[in-house]
Amino acid sequence: MFRAETWFRAQRYLSATVQRNSCWRNPKGCLADRVAVVTGSTSGIGLAVARRLAQDGAHVVVSSRKQQNVDRTVAMLQGEGLSVSGTVCHVGKAEDRERLVAKALEHCGAVDFLVCTAGVNPLVGSTLESSEQVWDKILDINVKSPALLLSLLLPHMEKRGSGVVILVSSISAYTPIVDLGVYNISKTALLGLTRTLALELSPKHIRVNCLVPGMINTEFSKAFQGYEDSAWDQLKKTNKIQRIGQPEDCAGIASFLCSPEASYITGQNIVVAGYSPNL
Ligand code: NAP
Repeated sequence: MFRAETWFRAQRYLSATVQRNSCWRNPKGCLADRVAVVTGSTSGIGLAVARRLAQDGAHVVVSSRKQQNVDRTVAMLQGEGLSVSGTVCHVGKAEDRERLVAKALEHCGAVDFLVCTAGVNPLVGSTLESSEQVWDKILDINVKSPALLLSLLLPHMEKRGSGVVILVSSISAYTPIVDLGVYNISKTALLGLTRTLALELSPKHIRVNCLVPGMINTEFSKAFQGYEDSAWDQLKKTNKIQRIGQPEDCAGIASFLCSPEASYITGQNIVVAGYSPNL
């Protein structure tokens, strides 16, 4: 039979455990002494994630295709007092992925977090009229490269005995956007990649989750915000919170997913869109 006293005792125990475990009490930050690799991190969502992980105590390796963007971002974040380094990495190029891993290992010889933000959409047009080159480019960058990069980093996460991977999909995985057919498909594939990798890597204590952003205010989304009756117009009607998202809306969730507070969460696709596609 239920007894109020037993219930209150359980609540007191849980509350004490949460307080004892709260990593946010660490003055060096919840992610102190951790190393994070963030792809596509010189602008938009990737930049916000890199900054937030570094603010929360991690050393962050930033990267993107262009040297000047990497140099500018490293200088800017170091100027904010954050621990960052950087290197060029076009995620579709094997030699660049290897260079990124080598750069990350320079810090302390291991890696804790991988956030795969880099993504492309080179075509606005119909799925069946997309050329083979367009299919290859989108699937290579958006779907294959996170898995290939992770396969290089995995032994260095295993050295730590745990790790966290965050993929970045899109709301278009749930509600496809007209004229972004192959991109929609690539982002849907990431939902499956998340669940499959979570299953495969949980015995190694590596958690894999996925951010699923709606319309977020970045260079990438500006292309859609300009159109009449565009994807953005459609999304404005669906969006319950009635504002465009900011990159920081994604960054806080990425930090939480990396933190020990999320140690029981894996295989989840987390929508950050101002609405739920399930409602
Ligand atoms: P963004 O502001 O345009 O930033 C893209 C970043 O990725 C830049 O740092 C860019 O720098 C880098 N990049 C581009 N291609 C790359 C490649 N092949 N290899 C490595 N780095 C590359 O874009 P964003 O809006 O933050 O988008 C980030 C991710 O969120 C993408 O995967 C996108 O699909 C997803 N997303 C965005 C939205 C949105 O509304 N913004 C919504 C849903 C999903 P360089 O030019 O120097 O390479």
